[in-house]
Amino acid sequence: MNQLNIYYDIDHITIDLKYFFIIILDTMKTVKYFNFSPFIDNNISAIISKKNQNLTEKSRVDGIKYFGKKFKLDHQNIAIPVQTHSSNCKIIDNYGIFQNTDGIITKNKNITLSLSIADCCPVFVFDKKLKTRGLIHSGWKGTVDKICINAIDKFLELKSSLIDLKIYVGPSIQFCCFEVDNDVGDLFYENCKIRKRNKKFHVNLQKQIMIDLMSIGLKEHQINASEICTFENNDCESYRREKENSGRMLALFGEFTI
Ligand SMILES: [Zn+2]
Repeated sequence: MNQLNIYYDIDHITIDLKYFFIIILDTMKTVKYFNFSPFIDNNISAIISKKNQNLTEKSRVDGIKYFGKKFKLDHQNIAIPVQTHSSNCKIIDNYGIFQNTDGIITKNKNITLSLSIADCCPVFVFDKKLKTRGLIHSGWKGTVDKICINAIDKFLELKSSLIDLKIYVGPSIQFCCFEVDNDVGDLFYENCKIRKRNKKFHVNLQKQIMIDLMSIGLKEHQINASEICTFENNDCESYRREKENSGRMLALFGEFTI
């Protein structure tokens, strides 16, 4: 009986030590991220995690909570869209998980918007007067379905004036590396694609997004875009490069301190 108790105790100690080391390692681990805030507004935080944060499609929700914790964000303040490559945008006023949504927009300063990406364009939209924020997932499908225009419509519903908006298109697979088949290439504007010798197209997501935004009245100086190509940059996760093994980069957009 005594022996059993001893074993039980040892087992207990082992577990405690294991947790102790996990906590130490966790504290030492630094989260690496891109900071795009200066391109948008000094009073707002717009960041995207770099590669190798062990964030995958399956662990997306846990990953967002974990990443958020590093910035002292309570997960109860984070809005998480379940992205489906749709052109659906939602105005939200609380945290939680939003089904079948690829763009979330909020006026609520307590809410941090999130998004996960690996090659698609993360688009940050900010109204510098009303402080409304939007975070949009625009892959090839969202782009040709004009999700960014849908997002701007939601800003207008929330009484934004176009002139107050600032837009930043984050890292994505770029014109240099984004090869698609004819059926997809056909959906892009003539000046946003080039036909290659193998009869496939290279398409330019960023340019198509910018053309669409300018077609509804936004000016060029209101829109900035990252030059980082996720396919080529080893700090980025890339679905095209890593296939099923690809992790995800997480975008957070909110009034938190970094
Ligand atoms: Zn490239």
